[in-house]
Amino acid sequence: MTQHNNFSNSQPEYSAQPNSREIDSLGILLHRMINRIRQSLELSVILSATVAEVRAFLNTERVKIYQFEADGSGEVVAESVDQQKLPSLLGQHFPAEDIPQEMRELYLKERQRTIVNVASRKIGMSSSANSEKGAKIHFRAVDPCHAEYLMAMGAQSSLVVPIVDADRLWGLLVSHHSVPRIVTKNELEVVQLIADQTSVAIAQSNLLESTRVQAQQEAAINRVGQFLHSMTQMQLQQALKQTVLALQGSGGRVYIAPQNLESESQLVVSGEQPLLLATGEGNGQSLIPLEKHPSWQVWLKNTLQVNRVVLPWAIADFDLHSLPSDWDSAFKPTKIKSILTIKLEYRQKTLGYLSIFRQGIDIETIWAKRPDRDDPRNQFPRQSFEIWRELQQNKARQWTNSEIELAQNLGSHFAIAIYQYQLYQQIHTLNTSLELKVQEKTEKLQQANQKLVQEISDRLKTRASLERLSHQNKLILNSAGEGIYGLNLQGETTFVNPAAAKMLGYQIDKVQNQPMHEIVNHSTAEGMVYSWQENPIYQTLQTGEVHYVTNEIFWRKDKSSFPVEYVSTPIKEKGQIVGAVVIFKDITERQIIDRMKDEFVSVVSHELRTPLTSIRSSITLLSSGRIDLKSSKSQRLLEIAVDNSNRLVRLINDILDLERIKSGKVTMFKENHNAADVITDAVEIVQSIAEKAKINISVTPLSVQLWIDRDRIIQTLTNLISNAIKFSPPNTVVTLDAHLQSDGTVRFQVKDCGRGIPPENLETIFDRFQQVDASDSRDRGGTGLGLAICRSIVQQHGGHIWVESVLDQGSTFCFTLPTGH
Ligand code: ADP
Repeated sequence: MTQHNNFSNSQPEYSAQPNSREIDSLGILLHRMINRIRQSLELSVILSATVAEVRAFLNTERVKIYQFEADGSGEVVAESVDQQKLPSLLGQHFPAEDIPQEMRELYLKERQRTIVNVASRKIGMSSSANSEKGAKIHFRAVDPCHAEYLMAMGAQSSLVVPIVDADRLWGLLVSHHSVPRIVTKNELEVVQLIADQTSVAIAQSNLLESTRVQAQQEAAINRVGQFLHSMTQMQLQQALKQTVLALQGSGGRVYIAPQNLESESQLVVSGEQPLLLATGEGNGQSLIPLEKHPSWQVWLKNTLQVNRVVLPWAIADFDLHSLPSDWDSAFKPTKIKSILTIKLEYRQKTLGYLSIFRQGIDIETIWAKRPDRDDPRNQFPRQSFEIWRELQQNKARQWTNSEIELAQNLGSHFAIAIYQYQLYQQIHTLNTSLELKVQEKTEKLQQANQKLVQEISDRLKTRASLERLSHQNKLILNSAGEGIYGLNLQGETTFVNPAAAKMLGYQIDKVQNQPMHEIVNHSTAEGMVYSWQENPIYQTLQTGEVHYVTNEIFWRKDKSSFPVEYVSTPIKEKGQIVGAVVIFKDITERQIIDRMKDEFVSVVSHELRTPLTSIRSSITLLSSGRIDLKSSKSQRLLEIAVDNSNRLVRLINDILDLERIKSGKVTMFKENHNAADVITDAVEIVQSIAEKAKINISVTPLSVQLWIDRDRIIQTLTNLISNAIKFSPPNTVVTLDAHLQSDGTVRFQVKDCGRGIPPENLETIFDRFQQVDASDSRDRGGTGLGLAICRSIVQQHGGHIWVESVLDQGSTFCFTLPTGH
């Protein structure tokens, strides 16, 4: 039912000008009312005070304040009513068409006040916007519908004054009376003044409210901020929880987009969440968060277009906007009814999204009339205002501007914190990777260094051992008594040791690189030089065979020669013959010794054969039976056999004794003995022989300690004294004395006055079987071994023995011995 504004002839429907007393009381009344209205800053208190004061002032039956919603509908938000007369309308909603748009515009632009008298069917219009017009009230006939409408509410008389807040029609101050009533101009102006005061109070209250909201928002921002901007680490989870609380959401989440291709996205959630979305097909199917789904960006774009808002926020109220179809599986199973998403941006970079979710709520609206348009009763003027409760269940709750503002504000804090955190992470990663790189490099360097040190040390060790080896080789080669030389395949000298050079009479460098065959002139044992190709060493170089040669001759530089034995061995490298090494020995001495041995054997056999021949011939004669065994001749033959047997025994004993002493098989048991005792003992042994030969032995004893094998020295002395007796004429003297010499040795002398020894025999008589005269052995019973035995004994004591002699005058045999300790 629409209210019409048909202006008509104006008629006085209000009282005349008040007198001065009335004005005074009005002033006081006004002052009191305004005071009361302004006592509180709470809107509900202000509005209640306003309606109460206005009703008391006008003395009408119902005064209400009607507040407009954004869509033009409205609600009775304050009321003072005499319920005896009129019903209460408090809390009832009225649809937008009840007060049509043009009427609302008049209320706003003209600040039009209306006074309706239903009985007289008159409506008075008075504009307060124009001061000239302000004084006048223009009357005309009221629209019948309007009159019906008022009557339905039980009112016969009404006064309506607009309440304007900051160029917005905030609401209406309405007075109803069940009987016709005249409104005076003063009353109108007073109510206007009160409406104006109410406007001011509403503005102040709004200011207070917005200050409160601001304070709450600041508190919320502080709470969230303390988690986001803590120096130690970003506590996203707690910050998000506080954000959800501050925005009265049922849940929320922060999606942090991957920073680069390698990094992962991050999702922090709190409270109720949409489910993950499937993407891809078959085996490649995976579950991803909403923000990663391709439809997210499309939704953002579309929603922003619909809302005609600029980034960075977007809203989806599921009642108003349909979600992308892919999202059904994410939201359908949940109670979420709306989303507020804030794009987290910093320095033109999208870092992610902050989303807050809300569940649906039940909204109850009390309507002042039935919404059923098809109900025929609605075609007629309304008879009463039966109330009707509208209950809307699970509806998305609107996001208010201040909530969006708060979310945006919080979003920017999230963005800054995330940006800083990522920056910090990058720096940290850089630092860590730098440290790691430095560490890796250092480790590699250390390893390389260790390896180098090891290599150097190994090389040094190898070099040292090589040097040692080469030094040892050099020492061995230098010390070797054998001559050693190396040859290459051509037979040229590549190496020669000092012994070889010395034996050949060359400097080492003079034989280097020279064909050795031309240097030594290989010859047969007989001295016949033969060709290189016939040489066994040449054969070694050709075939790799080892050759032992025992009887060849090498020639020295000075054209002299010496007998050699040598071995030639191939030098091989990886199985290939590259040369030969020849080790040779000068065998001159060995050949002499061999000769001496041969001679010794022939001498010994000769010496042994002589007595044996005598024995054999004597025994042969005796055994022939031709001689009477009891005859003196056979007796003589037996004596010869016995003498020669004794001689044979002596010979064999002496030979064995000498050989044992010379070869060191007889050990000298050395002890301290006094020289005087030794001399005395020796003389005692030979005393009887001397007496038989009528020789006098003269002794000069020397008391000095000797370090000797006593028996062997007595053997030496007795041998020398026996010889002296043997070769001395009777009635001569043999002198035996000893002297301590300056070098610490003791010199013994056995002197005779015999036949003497020719000078050429002075040395030889000390050799085996050497006698001055061949008859000496036969005539004097000697073996020719005594002096050789003496020399061996003296040498085993570290001394030496010799003879000084003048023919026909005598000989003096001398020897030295070491003194004892
Ligand atoms: P033997 O006396 O048994 O023949 P020796 O070795 O003792 O053997 O002596 C070797 C030789 O030296 C003697 O045969 C002798 O010709 C000579 N000879 C040794 N002693 C004397 C000496 N005092 N005067 C002269 N000739 C000596």
